[in-house]
Amino acid sequence: MGFEDKIRRVVPYVPGEQPKADNIVKLNTNENPYPPSPSVRETLKRFDADSLRLYPDPAASVLVHAIAEYYGLRDEEVFVGVGSDDVLAMCMMTFFNSEMPVLFPDITYSFYDVWAELFRIPYEQIPLDDAFHIVPGDYLKPNGGIIFPNPNAPTGSLLPLDTVRSIAAGSPDSVVIVDEAYVDFGGESALPLIREFPNVVVVQTFSKSRSAAGLRIGYAMADASLIRYLNDVKYSFNSYTMNRLTIEAGAACIRDEAYFRSCCEKIMATRERTTAALRDMGFRVEDSAANFVFASHPGVMGRYIFEYLKTRNIYVRWWDKPRISSYLRITIGTDRQMDILLDALRDYLGAVPS
Ligand code: PMP
Repeated sequence: MGFEDKIRRVVPYVPGEQPKADNIVKLNTNENPYPPSPSVRETLKRFDADSLRLYPDPAASVLVHAIAEYYGLRDEEVFVGVGSDDVLAMCMMTFFNSEMPVLFPDITYSFYDVWAELFRIPYEQIPLDDAFHIVPGDYLKPNGGIIFPNPNAPTGSLLPLDTVRSIAAGSPDSVVIVDEAYVDFGGESALPLIREFPNVVVVQTFSKSRSAAGLRIGYAMADASLIRYLNDVKYSFNSYTMNRLTIEAGAACIRDEAYFRSCCEKIMATRERTTAALRDMGFRVEDSAANFVFASHPGVMGRYIFEYLKTRNIYVRWWDKPRISSYLRITIGTDRQMDILLDALRDYLGAVPS
């Protein structure tokens, strides 16, 4: 057996492009079009660069405390990581450790199956219904754990809290992870469920609603005993995940509630306006509770629109995957960015022979 046979080989997750040019309209990775709170800039200006000589606090206590305070939790109920990708990966490694399959939707965040493969976790993808909704009853079977985003990605569709509760209640013997990357754009958080169910973990991020994808902060909130297990795995892997700059800037970021609310409101208003304009053009657009919309046009293939938009320096996301290849996922940007997109789509559809 050669050395190559001993190497772990995986098919990696493919993140959206990060094009270098600055004249582009970037609507492909669900970033926030508005900058982070001004308090983040102030914190970075005041930051003592000499302190970088020292390792950061491995527990990231200042950041953990700021998050706990914001949600009215105890520090022991919060875990932080390098974006929610890091937190979700840690959660899967920690909580999904059985022979039974972990359940998640067939159309969902495409990192879940990548992590499952990486960690060799058995899994089963549960089909969404024809309207692209999660069918809660399908999760009522023996499983090694459950993970789903709410709102779901890339569809944007939202499960009401009672439905999330019914999924959690149906699987008391495994951990249920609710990935709330987009919940601040109109969803109802499952956070109250961590008091009702010792097996529910709620994961959120600074990357979308808090305008700080570049800081890389994600966090899990759950019963203190689950957070302890997570920390045990983290400390078995890398103690210093959060750097000094991120800890301070992140704590300042989450304390600015008013700024955060106003950005979310602007994005939700732009989303509703964009959805209406796309529907006027003949697009089928799913109702979205996220900072993106999922849209298809009956007359044109998704791939063609995606390629055309690129020629206009507009980047959206398209997947060559079963069930969703006619769809585009379009991040909600500023009103001006959406106007540029809508004008380009009008030009394109006007030029397509019907
Ligand atoms: N969950 C979902 C559903 C997402 O779409 C994303 C963004 N790619 C993430 C988690 C991870 O985001 P981050 O690591 O930036 O927190």
